[in-house]
Amino acid sequence: MEEELQILLSASQLGTADQCERKWGYTYLDGIRSPSTASQQLGTDVHTCAEEWLGKGTPPPQNKAGRIFTKGVALLPVPGDHVLVEHAFRFVDGPLVWRGFIDFIDTSTTPIKVGDHKTTKNLRYAMDAQQLSTDNQGIIYAKVAMDKFNVDQVQLEWVYYPTTGKNTLPKKVSVVVGRDHVEKHYKTLRMKGVSLLDHKRNVSSGVDLQVEKFPHPGCRAYGGCTFQEACDQLNKGNDVSDILDRIKAMSAAKTTPAAVINPPTEPVKTVVAAPQERTVSCEDVVVPPAKVGRPKKHRALEITEEARAAESVAPSANEDSIAPEAPPVKAKAKTKRKSKDKQETKEAADTMTLFIDCMPSSGSTDVSDIIMQCAAEAASEHGVDHYRMIDFGKGPAQLNVCLERYFHGGFSKFAGSVVLCTSNQIQADSIPFFEAMADTVVRSIK
Ligand code: SF4
Repeated sequence: MEEELQILLSASQLGTADQCERKWGYTYLDGIRSPSTASQQLGTDVHTCAEEWLGKGTPPPQNKAGRIFTKGVALLPVPGDHVLVEHAFRFVDGPLVWRGFIDFIDTSTTPIKVGDHKTTKNLRYAMDAQQLSTDNQGIIYAKVAMDKFNVDQVQLEWVYYPTTGKNTLPKKVSVVVGRDHVEKHYKTLRMKGVSLLDHKRNVSSGVDLQVEKFPHPGCRAYGGCTFQEACDQLNKGNDVSDILDRIKAMSAAKTTPAAVINPPTEPVKTVVAAPQERTVSCEDVVVPPAKVGRPKKHRALEITEEARAAESVAPSANEDSIAPEAPPVKAKAKTKRKSKDKQETKEAADTMTLFIDCMPSSGSTDVSDIIMQCAAEAASEHGVDHYRMIDFGKGPAQLNVCLERYFHGGFSKFAGSVVLCTSNQIQADSIPFFEAMADTVVRSIK
């Protein structure tokens, strides 16, 4: 008997299909991801700040993403055990397998709050409550939360962080949705999912999916579709396989780190960091007081009662006041010393230092996207939804195999600092690979 074909679906996948089904085909049938843009990267960085804050109470770093996030802290739940962060879900509805991660669920309120972080260049792009109540992502997340907690109502809370405009404050859009409403709108999403499954059954490439009109408004959305050149040639009846190959290569290059020509031959050195290196100072962040299970790492934050009342207005965190201090400069450095410094800087630029549960005094390279990508690959290669579901507890090992492949066995690697945190499961699982690749490993004393 033929096995029933399933399709893995996510809210963002439906969003792509809503924009253009051919774009969905290029992305999910041909496997060509559009290269991430600078604003998407900034969005990812802000998202990481939020995850670290809500999950572990880690103050945001003193960089652009940290400053953007800081302004919205008062709009979020107080971190603690009552908040589920990056809640992974998977539910099966016949041949449709829905999966994703909900940014946060605050279980301490009635109704419970289901939240998502959004970065935007302009708040006029933010949805209003009415739009949020019928949004694909909102409906799926609401359904997941209702089923998980067996409730008939949830409050959707989308927090929008403006990335431009120094004085523009973040905004929260909230709406309470009930089960009947959610189930009614889910039926539409289900139909969309079934239609994508049909495409998956019948075609193998976005090239085979027709669009009613080209160009259409979706071609220009979000700065212009990556596949415009391909569709233009397709429209003229030309072969586009070379163009698609080029886009695929460009996309891969955008996420491939700079290669280090000479891989390390020296054994890895382990240095124990001074305890104060663990603290990221962020005194200007103002957060509401804790409710339950508040993490201990909040000591560096100033907590005020007024901030608690600021549900809909972000606190006045001054961007300038949390800018990192410039390093002290020696007025009369000798020429000899300068050339030694240059040499040391050059050497540092060619090596990689791994910081485990601690931070370097200067910046670090964010590897979380790469780890997530490799985890997804490991899961997909083993036909499971999450790498930790790979049989016989081999998930972490398979994750490391994928990381090794990503970095070409360690011969292509980051030069600089990489920070991994053992309280984050996926990062903890990645440590063996990064440890093997690092020239120096710095660990915190717990
Ligand atoms: S260029 Fe337009 S038609 Fe082509 S994939 Fe993109 S959105 Fe669709």
